[in-house]
Formats: sequence, structure tokens, C-alpha cells
Amino acid sequence: MEKILQVKDLHVSFSTYGGEVKAVRGVTFDLHKGETLAIVGESGCGKSVTSQTIMRLIPEPPGRITGGEIIFKNKDVIKLKEPELRKIRGANISMIFQDPITALNPTITIGEQIMEGIRQHKKITREEAKQKAIEMLMLVGIPNPEIRLKQYPHQFSGGMRQRIVIAMALVCEPDVLIADEPTTALDVTIQAQILELFREIQKKTEVSIILITHDLGVVAQVADRIAVMYAGKIVELGTRREIFYKPKHPYTKGLLQSVPRLDMEKGDLIPIPGTPPDLFSPPVGCAFAARCPYVMEVCDRVYPFKTYISTQHHVDCWLQDDRAKRLVSTY
Ligand code: SF4
Ligand code: MG
Repeated sequence: MEKILQVKDLHVSFSTYGGEVKAVRGVTFDLHKGETLAIVGESGCGKSVTSQTIMRLIPEPPGRITGGEIIFKNKDVIKLKEPELRKIRGANISMIFQDPITALNPTITIGEQIMEGIRQHKKITREEAKQKAIEMLMLVGIPNPEIRLKQYPHQFSGGMRQRIVIAMALVCEPDVLIADEPTTALDVTIQAQILELFREIQKKTEVSIILITHDLGVVAQVADRIAVMYAGKIVELGTRREIFYKPKHPYTKGLLQSVPRLDMEKGDLIPIPGTPPDLFSPPVGCAFAARCPYVMEVCDRVYPFKTYISTQHHVDCWLQDDRAKRLVSTY
């Protein structure tokens, strides 16, 4: 499968008064053409920082990319200067956020906002931009686009506003769309419609999507592959089937158990006890050790190697690695 984006051993830190927070600690993944890769994990696990770093949107300083590469169209995004980054943002890689209200300017018609997005990157006439805006509104399922173009954000419902934000993100036909909790602010019915919209758009445009979410229900609906992040690292990555039906990492299993299902009684929800480690001085060994019901001696001392379960499925956990026993006696 064609790789559209490669993130290799990415490290990102933030300096704070309390010291340096190591928010992303060696993240590696590929994004294929036309797929949806979901990055899941609890808040603070580094999933948003990872995605914002891909677009170089973290404020530097206090943020700092301390290692790794982000390869997009044979270039390392980390080495690019601001003018080159501006060309990529929106045109090649675009991003949508949780809150559709802040993404839209309340004082400008949505037509003008969508058209501005195109004209920043493409030399086209006003009339061509308008046609494109109409086409985009149709793509995201907004009826009567010619009339709607002249309206302001407050004239749309929350779900419609998120559709407009998606239209704006897609107007330059980007290769990659990063969606950070795109449905969290919406109610469940609208959420399902927006997720369905992502699927339809992907079929039509072959855009590759990175979906950042803490909600495994969302992931189950749209992800082709799933990366599970914990304390700044991807601890497990696999196809949706592999992660949902054959999870290997105790943290992934814990996350799946904490998802409410329709067949569950209220109160059946099992949260994972404990909290993630402090990322000022992350543990040398497995960061999940303090919360893991299967923890072994080696886990605290040495970070587990990446073990491949299948060609697409890998996990960082000593339980899956035969070398664990040998290492216990060596260390
Ligand atoms: Fe648990 Fe050890 Fe696996 Fe970490 S490496 S998840 S502590 S068994
Ligand atoms: Mg976040």
C-alpha cells in the first residue's frame, strides 16, 4: 500500500516551570493512501501533540521536537521553514478540531470562508472559487448550497457547522486530513452522521485520515487501523479487527473493557485503576507497569521491545516476548 506519510521515532517535549514534559516519546507509524488510522488513548497520552506536530502546529517554544522524522512527499516536515509549512497546511495536510464554533468566523458568511481557503492556495477566479464552494457543500451533505453560501455560522446547527468545517478542510483536496476529536462536541445521532460522512468522503476522494479520539465507539465505526497510545508511546498498533478481537496489550484490553456496550447493565463499566505516569520523569521500563495486573519484574526495569503478532499488528509488552524470562535473570 502506498505510504502517504511516515512518522519515525518522533520525540516532542514541552518546557514548563516544573521542568521538561516528555509528551511524545518515540512514536512511529505509517499512514497509507485512503485509510483511516485512529490514534486512541486517555487525555494527556500524546495523541494530540503527535498530530499537531505533523502540521507543525505546536508552539515552538515551549514545545520542542527533540528527535525523529516526519516524511511527507519525500521531505522531512520537521526541517521545513515556515513559508514551506504554510504551503503544506490546508493544501496538503489539513486539520479539523473538536469545536466547530471556534473554527468558523461568526462575522463572515460561510461561502466567503470556504472560498478564502481555496484562494489562499490556488490561483482561481472568484466565480471558480464559488463553484468549488458549492461543490464542497454538496459533498458534505448541505442542501441548497447556493442559498446556504450566503449565510452566517449561527444560522446552522452544530452538526451542520461541523460539516462546513469539514468542507473547509477538504476544499484544497488535501492528501491527509487530521481530525482531532471531531465528533466529541456533538450528540450521538449527529456524531454517527458525521462519521458516516467521513466514510463517504474517503470513498470519493481517497483522502487519508488520522482520527484522534478517546472514544472507542467512534473508532469501531470508521478506523481501518488503530494505534493505542499510552504515556507518549504507541503501545499497540493493528487493524481494527486485531485490536478489537485480539488485543494483546493489557492497556488496550483495559480500554476495551471500559467501553460501555449496549448489552451491559449500568455500572458494568470497568475503569482502569490508577493514573498514567508523570511525564517529567517517565519510567525507564513499561509506563503501564504501575497499573498493569500482569506486571513482572522485568517490566519496571526494561522497556519492552516491539513484538510483531502479525505483519500489521505489533505490541510493546513483555507478555508477548519470550525474551522476558531470559532478561529477568540477566538484569
Ligand atoms: Fe504489563 Fe509488563 Fe506488559 Fe507493561 S510490559 S503491559 S507491565 S506485562
Ligand atoms: Mg487532545
